[in-house]
Amino acid sequence: MRSPTLPLKLAVLLALALTPSRAGAQRRPPRPTIPPPTIIEYQPRSTLVVPEHSVPRAKFPAVDFHGHPPFLGSPDVVREVVAAMDRLNLQVMVQANPSSGDRLRQQIEAVRAAGYADRFVFFASLDLRDVGPGSGARIAAQLEADVKAGAVGIGEIMKSFGLSIRKADGTRLQLDDPELDVVWETAGRLGIPAFVHTADPAEFFEPLDYHNERWLEMALFESRRYFDRNRFPSFDELMAERDRMIAKHPNTTWVVAHMSWYANDLGRLGALFDRFPNVYTEVGAILYDLGRQPRNARAFFEKYSDRILFGKDSFQPDEYPYYWRVFETADEYFDYYRDYHAFWKLYGMDLPDEVLRKVYYGNALRIIPRMPTAGFPPG
Ligand SMILES: [Zn+2]
Repeated sequence: MRSPTLPLKLAVLLALALTPSRAGAQRRPPRPTIPPPTIIEYQPRSTLVVPEHSVPRAKFPAVDFHGHPPFLGSPDVVREVVAAMDRLNLQVMVQANPSSGDRLRQQIEAVRAAGYADRFVFFASLDLRDVGPGSGARIAAQLEADVKAGAVGIGEIMKSFGLSIRKADGTRLQLDDPELDVVWETAGRLGIPAFVHTADPAEFFEPLDYHNERWLEMALFESRRYFDRNRFPSFDELMAERDRMIAKHPNTTWVVAHMSWYANDLGRLGALFDRFPNVYTEVGAILYDLGRQPRNARAFFEKYSDRILFGKDSFQPDEYPYYWRVFETADEYFDYYRDYHAFWKLYGMDLPDEVLRKVYYGNALRIIPRMPTAGFPPG
């Protein structure tokens, strides 16, 4: 009788040949036997039960360095914004929306008329369109006039600077264009910070494939795709231009917006701080990166507590408490407010009071000239 072992051996060999290698198996997850949901449809409810602490108000009065309130052109709007600020314990908001000349003066007057001159400070925008010979002197003169009218900083310089703004000759305006040197020197002489938003999350400059952490956001918003190298510089190119701009102006105070989009690589931000003692940052719109590395982020905040300012970016009063909760509590595994920024959960950093005080108000009081001091703890 023929042994059955030959077909069995063949079957084993065949199975081995068809079995993916260990590494291959990790890359290719098992296929479910029922149709899987899309990433939009899959909304699992966490079963984790742990202590929760809601933080509707900041523990200390805060300055929102990256404020985008509505146009503060009438006392009614001012009063509405102040009411929201009071609920959150926001003591002072920087108006970082572009404003210069008459639009700047109109807001400063409305805030005074409403009796809230100690709750807002104003930054001046720069007209960077069609830069050519002589533009630098013109922009610097407007900046001096705006500072005389009451502005105490430059900004927010939007990401279009570097990404898309063209010069008069049609070429892209690079951040380190020498024509603008006189503007940054003027800021240094006037002692006002320059608040600059450069690029966007590095993933936006990478191909839109299934390994991209921001796939959903890029799929939702076509305008956030910068991977076409014929149209946009790379992330690293923009950062190199920005660093050359900073290097030329050591007497100017720079605030790089959004933690320079290095919040997912804090070592890189630390290297920027170490290289340039005149560089600061704010935390607008990158909470999802801090909240997924609470211990590393806490150590970073403790080390660089003199260089980090609170800033929120878009003015959605119900979103501020997410920041207070990440900074002030040790809560675990809680939701962020936008699933297209982050599909993961957040953890609290449990920052010590002395770090919170610097980040919430101390550093802003130090680097913004003529800051109102009413409402802040003494010292
Ligand atoms: Zn902004």
